[in-house]
Amino acid sequence: MRAWVVEEPGPVDTSPLRLVERPRPVPGPGEVRLRVSACGVCRTDLHLAEGDLRPRRPGVVPGHEVVGVVDALGPATDHFELGERIGVPWLARTCERCRFCRSGRENLCVAPRFTGWDVDGGYADFAVVDERFAYRLPDGFDDLHAAPLLCAGIIGFRALRRSRLPPGGSLGIYGFGGSAHLAAQIALFEGARVHVMTRSLEAQHLALELGATSAGDAAAEPPEPLDAAILFAPVGTLVPPALAALDRGGILAIAGIHLSAIPSLDYQAHLFEERGLVSVTANTRADGEEFLALAVAAEVRVEARPYPLEKAEVALSDLAHDRFSGAAVLLTEHA
Ligand SMILES: [Zn+2]
Ligand SMILES: [Zn+2]
Repeated sequence: MRAWVVEEPGPVDTSPLRLVERPRPVPGPGEVRLRVSACGVCRTDLHLAEGDLRPRRPGVVPGHEVVGVVDALGPATDHFELGERIGVPWLARTCERCRFCRSGRENLCVAPRFTGWDVDGGYADFAVVDERFAYRLPDGFDDLHAAPLLCAGIIGFRALRRSRLPPGGSLGIYGFGGSAHLAAQIALFEGARVHVMTRSLEAQHLALELGATSAGDAAAEPPEPLDAAILFAPVGTLVPPALAALDRGGILAIAGIHLSAIPSLDYQAHLFEERGLVSVTANTRADGEEFLALAVAAEVRVEARPYPLEKAEVALSDLAHDRFSGAAVLLTEHA
């Protein structure tokens, strides 16, 4: 099969990935194999390719928004049938024993394994997954449009919940890519007013088209105080203006796995009056199930830009340079 591997992390325009031929993976106990039809391109893949995230295994196959059809069952499996369409997310496995796993917070597991970082992901023709961590996918989304739900969607949803947006409140969204445009629609569906701050004019247009109340430049001041905000752009210099835009008691949630340096904060301007700053780390399987059901109920519109699997580096480069709005998705001939 074809598979992209991270060879030598470096700037995306220096080809840090390589397309190789590998034997199809064989599913072990509790695992199923899927024939990949689509795999979303997440900013985390870019961080991995460029070395912002340390590689945890040499030659790992990136990709953790994997959609495909089950084509082989390992021993002791009972969740899925051959031919069933499933989705593989970022959280590949947890230890199931630590204090976090035992208290409903498996996203904070002390020994987690992640798809496309510890275990091979979906930038390939086939992938293997622990069946307990895969999702059944709603019928309303074809492969291209289902893929971005699996990380962009679920993590954005967790960020929204971490921001504790009150019912009918105002939400600020900083950065408007694959994850943000999905979280925005959930917030709108739940009755929020959404203000989007992004430097991309195309993304500003998309935000308004999806129902945002306002759209402005990356660090623009929103037209009303924010009850909650989410920072999707991996840009630490946006933290102070986002905190300053919060109303009393508001919370800013940082959605990314990587953020550039945060400038020094001023306690009075940025944190006093019970403003809060929180991060988001992966997600629980319960988050995933809840989000997928909500995506159906809200009839979420997924802006997906298809690329053939062999153009993975082009997709990553376009993501790095903000050349599209929405989410990039790699497609194989099985899509
Ligand atoms: Zn991701
Ligand atoms: Zn654990």
